[in-house]
Amino acid sequence: MADVKRIAELMEARKPGEEILRVEDLVVHYKIRAGWVRAVEGAKFSLNRGDTMGLVGESGCGKTTTGYSIAQLLPDNAYIKGGKIHFLGEEILSKTLLPDGRVDKFNEYMRKLRWKRISYIFQGAMNALNPVLKVGDQIVEAILAHEKVDEETARERVKELYKLVGIPPDRIDNYPHEYSGGMKQRAMIAMALALNPDLIIADEPTTALDVIVQDKILGEMTRLQRELGMTMIIITHDISIVAEIANKMSVMYAGQIVERGTTRHIFKRFAHPYTKGLLGSFPSIVGEKRRLEAIPGSPPNLLNPPSGCRFHPRCPYAQEICRTEEPPEVEVEPGHFVKCHFAEKFFKEWHGG
Ligand code: SF4
Repeated sequence: MADVKRIAELMEARKPGEEILRVEDLVVHYKIRAGWVRAVEGAKFSLNRGDTMGLVGESGCGKTTTGYSIAQLLPDNAYIKGGKIHFLGEEILSKTLLPDGRVDKFNEYMRKLRWKRISYIFQGAMNALNPVLKVGDQIVEAILAHEKVDEETARERVKELYKLVGIPPDRIDNYPHEYSGGMKQRAMIAMALALNPDLIIADEPTTALDVIVQDKILGEMTRLQRELGMTMIIITHDISIVAEIANKMSVMYAGQIVERGTTRHIFKRFAHPYTKGLLGSFPSIVGEKRRLEAIPGSPPNLLNPPSGCRFHPRCPYAQEICRTEEPPEVEVEPGHFVKCHFAEKFFKEWHGG
């Protein structure tokens, strides 16, 4: 436990409950031959230290683009067209973007933040390990690149991290092919933790794993989150992962956040028809058996998104206003926001609130 304690002390030295991240009206478009893909439009949310936020929605709804915008890992054809990202009290977009809104990969300020302050676990990250280098050496290298410590100190830290994520420390000198899929993913989590970052963004961290290993890794991440008070964004299409691990939640649809609040708010008192559909399409292992409901249709092409409410072509409650006017974001209860013309009505009708 000494290792857990040491890292927990480091994290506690930071102010508990302080705001870590605030995203305001983020707009990100991709330029492709056929035109502009309006991938994210007006995303907003905030996280305090110790929060874990689930960012959920179907594939292609802008979740990864949002994560990449925060860590500034966007490709060259992505343009941040508007909005602000406050990280640890500083607005970072104004300090780091190129004048045309693209990410400056060589920006010194961002280079210092990335990995040390904001770390990222990529989709399928376990396949990102270099096959010809020992796994432990790859993590040591990441530490040496950002901190003035000697190699022996870095190796000791990697051993501590291995214990923390449930890998025997003597596996530090193995190559990636000697690890199982679960171990590789644990190693990636260890790498993400290596520099005690303030924020970890985990993009579909368990998607490539079988359900048993998935469950173990999620259990591990939940334990680490509680013991270390980590601040995390979990990007996933699997709403059950959010229920298990996150205290906050933002639901994305077609590039917009349509509902956000605490996980309890949204699971118990959802007020957006898309969230209702998303929750209805997942099985529950408690309560009565019920038929799972699929959301009809598929997400729109963001080259030319629908007018008005972007969900209107699939929404069973759509009215004329939904086709012509973009809905405002309404606070249906303290801290619970819903982007729908009829949010308050649904909130009352569905939950008697
Ligand atoms: Fe459905 Fe209209 Fe609400 Fe959009 S604004 S979710 S179309 S009811």
